[in-house]
Parts: sequence; C-alpha cells; structure tokens
Amino acid sequence: AAESEDKDERIEEEKVQNRVTYNIVFVTAEAAPYSKTGGLGDVCGSLPVVLAGRGHRVMVVSPRYLNGTPADKKFAGAFDLDRRIKVHCFEGEQEVAFFHEYKNGVDWVFVDHPSYHRAGNPYGDGHGAFGDNQFRFTLLCHAACEAPLVLPLGGYTYGGKCLFLVNDWHAGLVPVLLASKYRPYGTYKDARSILVIHNLGHQGVEPAVTYKNLGLPQEWYGALEWVFPTWARTHALDPGEAVNILKGAIVTADRILTVSKGYAWEITTVEGGYGLNELLSSRRIVLNGIVNGIDVSEWDPSSDGHIVSHYSADDLSGKAQCKTALQKELGLPIRPECPLIGFIGRLDYQKGIDLIRWGIPELMHDDVQFVMLGSGDPLYEDWMRAAEATYRDKFRGWVGFNVPISHRITAGCDILLMPSRYEPCGLNQLYAMRYGTIPVVHATGGLRDTVENFSPYAGDGNGEGTGWIFSPLAKESMLQALRTAMMTYRDHKSTWEALMRRGMLRDFTWETAAIQYEQVFEWACIDPP
Ligand code: ADP
Repeated sequence: AAESEDKDERIEEEKVQNRVTYNIVFVTAEAAPYSKTGGLGDVCGSLPVVLAGRGHRVMVVSPRYLNGTPADKKFAGAFDLDRRIKVHCFEGEQEVAFFHEYKNGVDWVFVDHPSYHRAGNPYGDGHGAFGDNQFRFTLLCHAACEAPLVLPLGGYTYGGKCLFLVNDWHAGLVPVLLASKYRPYGTYKDARSILVIHNLGHQGVEPAVTYKNLGLPQEWYGALEWVFPTWARTHALDPGEAVNILKGAIVTADRILTVSKGYAWEITTVEGGYGLNELLSSRRIVLNGIVNGIDVSEWDPSSDGHIVSHYSADDLSGKAQCKTALQKELGLPIRPECPLIGFIGRLDYQKGIDLIRWGIPELMHDDVQFVMLGSGDPLYEDWMRAAEATYRDKFRGWVGFNVPISHRITAGCDILLMPSRYEPCGLNQLYAMRYGTIPVVHATGGLRDTVENFSPYAGDGNGEGTGWIFSPLAKESMLQALRTAMMTYRDHKSTWEALMRRGMLRDFTWETAAIQYEQVFEWACIDPP
C-alpha cells in the first residue's frame, strides 16, 4: 500500500511539474479575512490560495481599508513597500502607496490612500453608499495596473505577461486601461484579462460627465457609454447618458466568467441581464460559469472552533448538541423535535427578504422555530426586531454581521432558507449542506445549480437529492416547500438523515473549481486579444 501511495504521489508531483502556470493578478474590492461583506470576499480570500498551491504565482490587489475598529488589526501584518506612484485621474494627481503581506503562498497587496480610511464597510456606512466610490475604485484599478510592473515582490516583479482576474465593477476599469492606455504603447501585450461577475446588480453607473475623471483616453468613451431607456430617465429633457464601468469591462475583457453556469445563462436574458443582456449575449462565446468552492477548513463540522460539538457524515450525533446550544443561546425553548429554520445574509431585496416577511405570520401558526441573522436595509432590520417581539417563543432576528454566530446557525439549524430573487452562486447553501442542514431555496442561478431537489422515490426507492427547490418566487410556494421539509424532518427521520448525509458528502472544494479556472486561463491565452 505504501508503495502505491508513493507512486500516486510521484504521479501527482509530475502533474504539478508539467502544469502550465501563470502570473495571476486578482483585482478586487474585498478579500477575506482582510475585508469581507459577502461572497466576493470569500472567493478572493480562498481561490488565490488554492491557485498558489497549484503552482501559480498569485497576487491579490485590494484597498487597505482602515475603519478605526479592531478589524484594522487584520492589516497589521502588511508592510509599506515604500513604492509610491502617482495616479492621474479626477483632474489631478493622486499619490498611492502599496502595502504587502506574503501569506499562504499569495502576495496580498493593499493599495493605500486616505479615501480608504473611514468608518463603515468597503462601500458605505449607515447613511448609504459613499459618494466617492467611483473615485476610490478608479484609484484601485490604476494602482492594480501598475502593481505587476513596479512592485518587486520577493525580489522581482510579476512583469507584463500576467493574467488579470477582474472582479465585479470595482475592478472593471482594469481591462479598459489595458486596452486603451497600455497595449497601444507595447506594455501588457501578452497580458490577458478575465472579468468575473459575482453580481450583475451593481455596475458602477455614474453621469456621463464623470468620464473625464477616469483617466482614460477621450476616444475610448464609447466603451463605457451607457444610455438609459426612456422609462428610467428622471425627466423629459434627461438624455439618459451615463458611463457604466462594468459595461466597459464586458466590452474589453478577454473572457468573462460568472460564479455558476445557471447565472451565466440568466445574465443573457432580459429578466436577469439588468440591461446588459444583449451585450453579454453578443459575447457568449467567451462567457462561462464556474460554481464557487468553499473554504473547507474554515467550514468543517468536524473541527469548527465556533460550535460546541463536532460531527460528520459518519456520526451525526453532535449536531443535536449544536441545535440545543443554539436554542439556548437564542433564548428559544429547547426542543429537539421542533424544526429550526435559519436564514443568513444581507438584508437586501435581492435575497427575497420580503417573501420571508410576508410568509412569517402564516408560518408562525406551525410548530416551528425561526432564526434570522443579517444586516442591511433598515426596513428589514426594524421588521426583524418587531417580529422577535411578536413571536417571542418562535422567532429570533439577530441584526448584525457576525461570523461565529453564522457558523452556529449553520450547524444548529435543521433547515436553511434562501428565497433569493436572483443568486449568482450563493455560499450559505453550500455551507449548510456541508453541515447537514437542509437547504430550501428558490430555483435561481447558483442555488439551482448546487442544490439537488429531493425526490423520495428515486434511487431505487431510497430517495435522492440534497434539499428543496421551489418555484415560482412566491410566498405560497416557499411555505409549501418549507412545510414539506418540516414534515419530512418530523415524521421521516431516516429519510432526513439520508438527505443530510448526501449533502455532507458533496464535493464543494476550491480544488475542483480551480481546475476549471485553469481551463479558462488556457482559453484566455490561446485566443489573441
Ligand atoms: P452575497 O455575496 O450576495 O452576499 P453569498 O451567499 O455569496 O451572498 O455570500 C455571503 C457570505 O457572507 C457568506 O459567507 C455568509 O455567511 C456571509 N454573511 C452574510 N451576512 C452575514 C452576517 N450577517 N453575519 C455573518 N456572515 C454573513
């Protein structure tokens, strides 16, 4: 056995040695654990490490956010590289600095500028989005384009032959800059860019007059030009002209990726395309979808430091203790037999919170417990607090962003509800399945791609599937799916445990996703830009 293991290892090593490797530059507004508000942060914190482990040289460029809270400590290991550059934009000259930490095989590069030092999250504070986000992310993009050329990381620069992974609109000026400012002068001739769309709902749209601020050549205006349909204009004289940074990236990137195949298709439709569907359809030949992986060391019920008892697909017993502990922590009656439903996520229209809000009064007639963790829209935050007061024995609404609690809810609940209106990938359903918590999800995007609808008679009568997928997006179909799940939990224990095990044994590792990313890298490099 030892001999064959040796052989396997040798074959693996040979594969690694023969693998084509790239100099990869992630450009992103978030990278966990340094900064995170959602899935973007998770992806840009995990995928770079896995790619570095597979032999690529990987840099992640994101802002050095300091908000005056203890979270600032996360940047303590990153040191000033003492390399200042001047960015020409917004009709002036901005000096930015670079901080650097080499960790887990990755060069984490943080662009430093006073506009990143303020209270709030990366995009805004209690009053809404910051008014100067176009400025802040323009700086990020210009700095990210210079970083591979000027930063001697580990002694030598990445150079012009690199592969930019451009995440969402915040990084969207990178491919536009490569095409307009660098390639015509011979720099980055061999570089390629891949736009990764994590959420098409945000595009970086600002009035057309702001184009002059972006530091792009005048003749490239057409790449970002965006004309609103008549119905979206504010008054009859409004010409509806704007610049759209994500559109510029879609036009200029060598390839386009989204975080699931289902979402890659949805964004080419009128319903899911947010006005960009026709443009995305025209680029369909370079558009692919790859489902995100999850950090299986952080999200592992057999070793999770945030939960009271560990468990696995072989021994599920610890999950009951996690449920009891959660009920106790939330001050809910400790009742193992009562189905406990959870929701975790941004309180945003996208997440279908309105459906939960309208469904709760009806659901609360059932024998059930419900816990929600989330922050965002004050309307929903207030509603959660009010619902908690109304349904004292059944409902808890935890307003805030709290990673340890999110782990305890994922482990302690029986069911995780995700009624998202649209969901590019969704991570919570993946975490839930790994923790034996059964997802009940709306049939959209990545949710439909990753949850397999339960079918009691398939698989030789033993049942198949990992959760419930409901459609249409309506309170009634959501409640029906929840009630079927609750009935199965209460009355069909062995069926339920089989459901749990199937989900827990699914492969959601980043390794699987990374191999698919490498395929896209190869395609990006064989196609001439
Ligand atoms: P999105 O990126 O649209 O917010 P995802 O499901 O892709 O949605 O990722 C959300 C990530 O943020 C998950 O890791 C989730 O656990 C985390 N998250 C969201 N809201 C909270 C919260 N209130 N507290 C802790 N973690 C949260």
